[in-house]
Amino acid sequence: MIRFIPALAFALGLSLISAAALAWEQTATCGNDSPCLPGQTPILTFWATPCIAFHLSDEVSPRLSADQHITLEQVQTIARVSLAEWHRPELSALTPHLSGLTNESRVGFNPYTTRNANIIVFRDEWEESSVIMALTTVTHQVNTGQIHDADIEINTQYYRFGIVTDDNPHVVDLQNTLTHELGHAFGLAHSNDPEATMFAFSDYGDIRMRSLAQDDLTAIAALFPPSEAVCKFKDSYFSAPPYAMDARPPSDGCAASPLNVRPPGYLGVAMFCFCLCLALRRRSFKPLHAARKPSPLQTHQDPPS
Ligand SMILES: [Zn+2]
Repeated sequence: MIRFIPALAFALGLSLISAAALAWEQTATCGNDSPCLPGQTPILTFWATPCIAFHLSDEVSPRLSADQHITLEQVQTIARVSLAEWHRPELSALTPHLSGLTNESRVGFNPYTTRNANIIVFRDEWEESSVIMALTTVTHQVNTGQIHDADIEINTQYYRFGIVTDDNPHVVDLQNTLTHELGHAFGLAHSNDPEATMFAFSDYGDIRMRSLAQDDLTAIAALFPPSEAVCKFKDSYFSAPPYAMDARPPSDGCAASPLNVRPPGYLGVAMFCFCLCLALRRRSFKPLHAARKPSPLQTHQDPPS
């Protein structure tokens, strides 16, 4: 249930090892649509880099702007503040960044090209269950758990999102929700610590998740230990590629993909976040090049226990 690196626990001191400090969990899957079977060892998902850039949809939800009069500039500010909440250089190398806007609205990852982006989008036409508040889809390599992409969708069709204030308490706070979803994007599952940003339950007027709790800080210190790495982001508009998410770019023909390795397959982990309940759905993708040699990509994580 809990993944906590013993050496880190020792470094932090035993006083921090309380039930609450151990509440966070790293997202794990068994590589298919079903829960892990008895005897199966879950694969822990992780980023190989602490430098993680996002692009925000350049189209603010018409519902959001009409109902709450929220502008694109306000949404950008909220996204930056939410990302900044996860940047704690004193204890973690995690460096999230808003690189710009995008017209990409499709979730997923195209392994045939380097033209991918982690996106944040609003859905005024929600295709999942109406009770789902937001959804983060994390695409990772099946055999290693390495995350290649994370996309966040906000359900603005069935939930009234906005900015919670004393004068405006009856909305789902956008910053609160986005800060929580970013935790999923970074590889965190739900926490059973009710104080944590990664706690599974939220509701209208809730702003507790805007600020990370000790449990969340312990999580990013473990998943993204401090390092000397310097993140260099290239800020730019991301234009959606004019081909399907699972298609080889036309110009590539049958030549090698810009990716110099072919993973045996990908799995998307979709974290559904509800107001009053939750569920975890796993999306599986057929191996794209099963006949090829499995990727030799290296990981910096311990194998799952
Ligand atoms: Zn969640």
